[in-house]
Amino acid sequence: MEKIMPNRLDRGFYQHQEEFEKKAVDVLRSGWYILGNELKNFEEQFASYIGSKYCVGLASGLDALWIAFRALNIGPGDEVIVQGNTYIASVMGITINGATPVFVEPDEYFNIDADAIEEKITDKTKAVLAVHLYGQASNMDKVKDICKRHNLKLVEDCAQSHGAKFNGQTTGTFGDIGCFSFYPSKNLGAFGDAGAIVTDDEELAKFIRIFRNYGSEKRYHNMLVGANSRLDEMQAGLLSVRLKYLDEMADEKRVYCNRYLKEITNEKITLPKIREGATHIWHQFVIRCDSRDDLMRYLDEKNIGTIIHYPIPPHLSEAYSYLGFKEGDLPVTERYAKTVLSIPLYNGMTKEEQDYVIDVINAY
Ligand SMILES: *Cc1c(COP(=O)(O)O)cnc(C)c1O
Repeated sequence: MEKIMPNRLDRGFYQHQEEFEKKAVDVLRSGWYILGNELKNFEEQFASYIGSKYCVGLASGLDALWIAFRALNIGPGDEVIVQGNTYIASVMGITINGATPVFVEPDEYFNIDADAIEEKITDKTKAVLAVHLYGQASNMDKVKDICKRHNLKLVEDCAQSHGAKFNGQTTGTFGDIGCFSFYPSKNLGAFGDAGAIVTDDEELAKFIRIFRNYGSEKRYHNMLVGANSRLDEMQAGLLSVRLKYLDEMADEKRVYCNRYLKEITNEKITLPKIREGATHIWHQFVIRCDSRDDLMRYLDEKNIGTIIHYPIPPHLSEAYSYLGFKEGDLPVTERYAKTVLSIPLYNGMTKEEQDYVIDVINAY
C-alpha cells in the first residue's frame, strides 16, 4: 500500500471536482478578482450558516485574530486569557497588538479549563480567547458566564471548529467576535490562505470591513491606518462551493472517528473524549501515548504518517522567550505537547486505509 498521509487535501477536491473547476473558471472569466460578488455571497452564506448577523472575509485566520483584538481596542498594558496548548497563531493575534497573553491550562478535552480562568483575572484583564481546539466546542456556558460577571470581552478562535456546537449554539456566536481560518487543511478549507470574522455587532463589523481595506470605506478616503487583508474572489467562490458540503463532510469524518473510537483498543493509547453538550467536527483525531515519539517512529516505519499538534507550546517557543516562561510553568500543557499525536483523518479516506491504521495501532 502507498504511504498513508496524515491528511490528503486532493481527496476532498476530487469529491466535488467539477463544481470547483467550474467556479474557478467562472471567477477567472469574470474580470473581477477582489471585493466583488463572490465575497459578498460567501459572507452572507457563512454568516447564515454560523448564525451571526455579520461576516467579514479576511486574508487569513491570523489576520482575523489580530484584527479582532484591534477592533476591540485591546493593546499595550492589557491582558488576554488564553489556553496554553493552542496553535501559536492564537497567541500572536494577542501580541501583535502589544497586549499580553495570560495562559490557562487545558481541560481533559484539550480546551480551556474554565475552572482555572478566574484565578488569572487581574485589573488588566480585558478579554478571554477561547480556542475550540481540534474541532470540539469548549465549555462555553462557563466561559461566557465568567466573561459576563467580570465584564470581559469574549473572542473565539474557531479556526478548527467550523459548525461545532455547544448546547446547540454554534461556536463563533458566544462572544463579541468569532475568528475563522480557511487554511486548506481546515474543515472548511480554501485553496490558498483565507479567513473571516463573524459578529452580531454592527459597529465592529463596519470597523473591520474598513480596516481590512487600508482603512477606507470610500476609495482613497482613508479614515485610519488599516491593513490589506481581503478574502479574494477566487477563494470566496471556492469556499461557497465547499460550504454547501460542509455538514456532509463533517458527517463523513464523524463516521471515521467513531470507528477509531470503537476499534482502537490498545491500552497504551488514550482516545479523545467528547464533552457532554459539545459537538466535535473532528478537525483532528488526537490520541495520547506516553511513548509518543516511539509510537510515531513505529507508525512511520509501517508507512503511516502522523503529525504532532503541537510539539512546542507557545509559552516555550523562541518567539515568546521575552515573556520569561520556563519548562514546568504549565505542566498540563507541556504533558500534552509530549504525548499528543494526530493520526490520519481526511475526507475520502478509504476503508482499507482505515482498517490498516487501526490494525497497526492495535499491534503496537
Ligand atoms: C490555523 C489556525 C490559526 C491560523 O489560521 P491561518 O489561516 O493559518 O492564519 C489560528 N488558530 C488556530 C487554532 C488554528 O488552527
